[in-house]
Amino acid sequence: AKAQGRGTYRIFAPEMDEHLRARLEMEADLRHALAAQQFEIVYQPIYELATSQLRGFEALLRWTHPQRGAVCPARFIPLAEETGLIVDIGAWVLRRACADIMLLPGDLRAAINISPVQLAFGYIVETVSEVLRETGLDPGRLELEITETSLFADDQRNLDVLRRLRALGVRIVLDDFGTGYSSLSHLRLFPLDKIKIDRSFVQEMTHRPDSAAIVDALAALALRLNMTTTAEGIETAEQLEVARRVGCTEGQGYYLGHPQPIRHAFAAATRPLQH
Ligand code: C2E
Ligand code: CA
Ligand code: CA
Ligand code: CA
Repeated sequence: AKAQGRGTYRIFAPEMDEHLRARLEMEADLRHALAAQQFEIVYQPIYELATSQLRGFEALLRWTHPQRGAVCPARFIPLAEETGLIVDIGAWVLRRACADIMLLPGDLRAAINISPVQLAFGYIVETVSEVLRETGLDPGRLELEITETSLFADDQRNLDVLRRLRALGVRIVLDDFGTGYSSLSHLRLFPLDKIKIDRSFVQEMTHRPDSAAIVDALAALALRLNMTTTAEGIETAEQLEVARRVGCTEGQGYYLGHPQPIRHAFAAATRPLQH
């Protein structure tokens, strides 16, 4: 073990677990990724199901590591969250995605994932209002996707942050509904505009009538509470059909369009939808 100043130790033993070594390396690389311009955003189209009209895009972060190549978000986002790097990275995503969506014709929306860490420590209200001012994006075209797990930590504070965000005019979307600790009480406790139904649920609907019944009821409940629903992870024509039938407002998934760089995403999405 090597002392690194008072009270902190870093272990560089050769027998160190390979996983830990890789992790520390990746963490060090992640610190430089933003400045080294290794991040890119890809955009996945979101359609209104009743009309098959393009409504907007979800911004999804990609990291190309100079040696390892593409690193998937499921690996580097948790690391960025543990290290706090997600605050700066997330602000970059917001700025970039809002600027990108402004380049497109029409009033398409940008849906952007916000980490629980950004909600808790990230000056998120200040960052969002700054980005709106800088880019000139109509706040009504910005959707912030948050997960339910982020609502647990400190309900009162989170509630306050969400209210302040909503007061800016942006929409709050509850992501991944149907996984983990989904709770109906969140739907009335928190100021939400939309519920995104997790793909595990969406994909079950075609072979499990009970799952379809739950989503059907949820979509109806959402409308009663002045919210809409998005079915995510639609991979087949059959899943699209069921999502429509149970009354989901919007749909997203590989069957409708893959995440792509903004120019390709827009070109692909503006070709007439066959579905
Ligand atoms: P998410 O927010 O639930 O995003 C949807 C994920 O599902 C994306 O994975 C997307 O590429 C994938 N997906 C879309 N359609 C389909 C489909 O039809 N089938 C299947 N199997 N998958 C589909 P991705 O891009 O790997 O992102 C994974 C997660 O990483 C995201 O899940 C989100 O939680 C997180 N993430 C991505 N970008 C950001 C970001 O900029 N900030 C934060 N905080 N998190 C991000
Ligand atoms: Ca999302
Ligand atoms: Ca999701
Ligand atoms: Ca997810």
